Amino acid sequence: MSTVPRDPALLNVTAESLVRWAGGFEDTAPHAEILSMQLGIAQSMPQASQNIIYCEVIAKYMPALADVWRRATEAVTPAGTLINAASTTPYFVRFLRSPDGADIAAIQAQRVAAAVDRVPSMPLDHIAELGQFLSTLFLLQGTQGVSAEDKSILVQHLPQWERRYDGVLAGETAGRCLALLTDDRNMRPMMDMVRNMLESKMDKCGGPGCTRRVQKDGAVLQQCGRCKSAVYCGTPHQKAAWPAHKSTCFTPAF
Ligand SMILES: [Zn+2]
Ligand SMILES: [Zn+2]
Repeated sequence: MSTVPRDPALLNVTAESLVRWAGGFEDTAPHAEILSMQLGIAQSMPQASQNIIYCEVIAKYMPALADVWRRATEAVTPAGTLINAASTTPYFVRFLRSPDGADIAAIQAQRVAAAVDRVPSMPLDHIAELGQFLSTLFLLQGTQGVSAEDKSILVQHLPQWERRYDGVLAGETAGRCLALLTDDRNMRPMMDMVRNMLESKMDKCGGPGCTRRVQKDGAVLQQCGRCKSAVYCGTPHQKAAWPAHKSTCFTPAF
């Protein structure tokens, strides 16, 4: 933390400031320490405020962040750290389903597999992040795109991390990655529950208390015309949801 300049302006956390320190704007180099300080501030905000910032980050800047992330080769990078922090938003689910996002899980699996020898010397929060990001990607995208070689390296190392980091987030996320890679029957109900939670805004009516996955006549749910990241069983529920939805409704850049 000593490398972080003492500039009060850095305490002002916005979608743009996070994207800047993650390297998403070409005029500013990424800065992992400032980014992590800003993410710490974001995490101290109420859940709803955090969610608005993360929705804006992914909706407006995911293509730029994805470009920066693709150019890197490391398993943990500032762009990846920010994407991981914002990975619970419906916009991220939508990006992973788009052609530009299709290979993200396979690329990250390859990076983690290439980094297995360095993992023991990484800071614990990096190991936790690495597992958290990979497990989210496996949940949302499956593991079928992961090469057989990467799969075998990961299946060999993840149980060691699960044991070595037992009781902390790094061990738990390693366990989640392993369960998803090996399709562990015991973990399947829990994994399905988390997946449904992450995907619910894209696949289930956003009307208050509504659980419809199709319209009453069986047609696919209507998308919010602006964000395309919220769906409704009809206009009444879209209207009823608007007061709560409007703060996270952004025009996506993808
Ligand atoms: Zn509904
Ligand atoms: Zn919307």
